[in-house]
Amino acid sequence: MRTTRARGRGAVLAVLSVLVLAGCGGAEIQVSGTAPGERIEAYEAMAGVALGQVEDLWGEDAVARPVEVVLPGSAAEFAELTGGAPASQEAPAVTVGSLDEAHVVVHPDSWDRLTPEGRQAVLTHEVTHLSMQGDGGVPGWLGEGLAEYTAHRTSDLAPAAIAGSALDPVRAGQVPTDWPDLGSAPVAPGPVGAAGDGADEPAEGSTWGGYALAWLACLYLADTWSEEQLVELYEVVAGGSTLTDAVPQVLGVSEAEALAGWGEWLTTL
Ligand SMILES: [Zn+2]
Repeated sequence: MRTTRARGRGAVLAVLSVLVLAGCGGAEIQVSGTAPGERIEAYEAMAGVALGQVEDLWGEDAVARPVEVVLPGSAAEFAELTGGAPASQEAPAVTVGSLDEAHVVVHPDSWDRLTPEGRQAVLTHEVTHLSMQGDGGVPGWLGEGLAEYTAHRTSDLAPAAIAGSALDPVRAGQVPTDWPDLGSAPVAPGPVGAAGDGADEPAEGSTWGGYALAWLACLYLADTWSEEQLVELYEVVAGGSTLTDAVPQVLGVSEAEALAGWGEWLTTL
């Protein structure tokens, strides 16, 4: 409960700071769409929290202003606004466009499907993607893992609780020997985001397992080294370095050593 109160206070502070900043030069956050007004208001507050969470890790001004969030009122409208790629239609939210045009489109179903914490985590994940706009490419697991890391950073839940069934293969002895391969799959709602009883089983075909492992890889790196080094690793790779070169440069061990350490760490969760 202490957490809930702390989060509530964070939300109020974030909203206040948004109002203050908005007063001195352009809107910080723009939430629009055909969704009901109460959702627009709720997402305005959540976007303020997300912006604060992202900047806390990635630095002030990490996210271009304004942070634009679009809330379509129907799944059909969501499909229209996100280009209709079938793979995106199951995602709770999608970042579309790039650079100044980049904005977050939230699936209307996520209001009912996700808990308030889950909605916040999804939005913070997407705002992290906004902060990565214009950066060089990184492997999927690093970009998605960092977005998840930013979203769950202040959670009091144990890693195993957030990862849910994604750790089942590890417990069955299948310890990964390579970084997660996410391909170009969209974000599936994680177990922490699912509402209702027994909802911690991802849907069949869900990509949550890969995202959870990507998040756990980032959590391992931050816990074993530091958050600063995790962010630096991203920056060095986004700057054009390979992981094989960047890992020793930033972490002081070989990529193989980091991978082996991660695999061992996973078995302790
Ligand atoms: Zn993502």
